[in-house]
Amino acid sequence: MARRRQLFEGRAKVIFEGPEPGTLVAHFKDDACSESNGITERKTGTIIGKGVINNRISEYLMTKLSEVGVPTHFVRSLNMREQLVRAVEIIPLKVVVRNVVAGSFAERFGLAEGEALPRSIVELYYKSDQLKDPLVLEEHVTAFGWASPFEIEEMMSLSLRINDFLSGLFMGIGIRLIDFKIEFGRLYESDQMRIVLADEISPDNCRLWDAKTDEKLDLDRFRRDMDKIAEGYQEVARRLGILPENGEPDNPGPRLVK
Ligand code: UDP
Repeated sequence: MARRRQLFEGRAKVIFEGPEPGTLVAHFKDDACSESNGITERKTGTIIGKGVINNRISEYLMTKLSEVGVPTHFVRSLNMREQLVRAVEIIPLKVVVRNVVAGSFAERFGLAEGEALPRSIVELYYKSDQLKDPLVLEEHVTAFGWASPFEIEEMMSLSLRINDFLSGLFMGIGIRLIDFKIEFGRLYESDQMRIVLADEISPDNCRLWDAKTDEKLDLDRFRRDMDKIAEGYQEVARRLGILPENGEPDNPGPRLVK
């Protein structure tokens, strides 16, 4: 088989050219990375089995979202670590939706982690490693041409719909959706353009707390040097009912490699 052409390598995924025009293959890695945010330092490492679980969780959540009418880039799962997605033009913004105070938000406003917000808050960050993803206003987004007013409106309303749906879905399995980060892309079809959900939704970019104990089941376990990091990811997949049949991914079970 011809070698696939790698187009991009990010922190948690490698993107290859897809088998048909307009498609890409997303390969989920076990690499973990967190940025310093004033609370925790930048940290890299490996969580064995994470890629397999995130591929599955993201497939599941994107499929559920598209069933309720949220357009996504997801096409189909290819294997344990890979999924086929539509090639989109990524909008250079990280859209963060928050329900409960946590992470950098707690720091910024001097609030205690775990406090429920009076209403869900949507924030926009400009995607730039060099600038450390600054928080931006709609003014910056339109002035610098990163997205149009219509596109911002569309991303905002889709984000709130996604939040409502995912909050309910997770609450049904005893998990609180504290906050999450999503990305959107422009999908060009004939002469039409649509904004669709892209990237991934997984415990790498959501804060997920056990509803009874507030136990963290996400990347914060890694960021904050806690134990049982991979077990958190597995627990989310287990409660969603989507762990591979024998309960094991393609290895004896995820563990942190220091
Ligand atoms: N997040 C992410 N990628 C980023 C920044 C944030 O996936 O580059 C997610 C993070 O996991 C959390 C939410 O977005 O679920 C809000 O993160 P926050 O701004 O509090 O930053 P953090 O404390 O994670 O640095």
